[in-house]
Amino acid sequence: MPDAATPPPTTATEPVPIAVAYGDGIGPEIVEATLRILEAAEAPLRYDTIEVGEAAYLNGHTSGIAPETWDAIRRHRVLLKGPITTPQGGGYKSLNVTLRKSLGMFANVRPNKSYAPFVAAAQPGMNLVIIRENEEDTYAGIEHRQTTEVYQTLKLITRPGSEAIVRYAFEYARAHGRRKVTCMSKDNIMKLTDGLFHRVFDEIAPEYPEIEAEHRIIDIGAAIVAARPEVLDVVVAPNLYGDIISDIAAEVSGSVGVAGSANVGSSFAMFEAIHGSAPDIAGRGVANPSGLLNGAVMMLVHLGMPRHAETIKNAWLATLEAGIHTPDIYRPKASERQVSTEQFTDAVIERL
Ligand code: NAD
Repeated sequence: MPDAATPPPTTATEPVPIAVAYGDGIGPEIVEATLRILEAAEAPLRYDTIEVGEAAYLNGHTSGIAPETWDAIRRHRVLLKGPITTPQGGGYKSLNVTLRKSLGMFANVRPNKSYAPFVAAAQPGMNLVIIRENEEDTYAGIEHRQTTEVYQTLKLITRPGSEAIVRYAFEYARAHGRRKVTCMSKDNIMKLTDGLFHRVFDEIAPEYPEIEAEHRIIDIGAAIVAARPEVLDVVVAPNLYGDIISDIAAEVSGSVGVAGSANVGSSFAMFEAIHGSAPDIAGRGVANPSGLLNGAVMMLVHLGMPRHAETIKNAWLATLEAGIHTPDIYRPKASERQVSTEQFTDAVIERL
């Protein structure tokens, strides 16, 4: 959808510079695969590598990102990022959260679609876009130790933050011809914070009379995402709920390895897969690059390169339809051939 961060369609002959972070775990494998496809499709881009996560940490930057890297990201304005490992229970703060907040990328757009029958899916009717608030909620990083036995996290919900994300969801629905926006919250329990989010949704919805608006309590909402996603269309939710339901949605539509995501603000945009660094399969050459590739397709649209986006998406779909599948989506009867990351990438390139 058009937004303040969207540059005008490119007519430039000069390649557009973007920052690329390889990330951790399977990150380097899937970034490599994605760049090979972008290059083969002759997307007019220049790739400037930056270091975030473990690589930066090992180079002495305890926050996981060097000061000059911030400058590079701010200069480029667009970042294609592999997943980053976040130390659990200690260590540096989540860099993903820091990047989204520091660069004001308030909207996380996560389309989830089933590619059944070509990819086996628990929910073949899935075609849902989750718009997740990206800066607030329990991700605001306000945590305290009260005693060694008692810890506290504060949940932050603001009116400006809620208005921005709710309006983004309705504008997205309008721009993409979607019929309904569902707000999910737990305002029966968190009456002030989630109550505000829901109230803002109810206030803004009438500005979009052609779009149906409804609210669901998040617990039954998550159950519907898992069991009857075809009754949903666009979902808008505070940060934590949005994070959880988008992994549910990705998994039941085939694999967490397939869905891409866009983080969008008024000045910067970052494109990635929805999944993490998958340390359990890192370095084995079996990761599915599709999530990051779908993130890159969203990036091309954002950069005003829809023709390249379409070419790549079609080649990727043709690869899935040919039954050429990485292990996470391989099913003996539905698939034709189980392939490595590299073979999958080659197959997409052959179909460009
Ligand atoms: P994960 O998404 O990395 O992995 C969950 C499961 O899905 C694993 O079994 C993994 O092998 C599988 N999987 C994920 N991506 C796959 C792919 N492309 N192809 C095939 N299989 C795939 O979740 P996790 O294990 O909970 O997290 C690992 C690390 O990633 C943690 O440090 C977490 O904080 C981080 N993380 C980062 C991001 C991000 O960078 N945006 C997002 C989520 C988690």
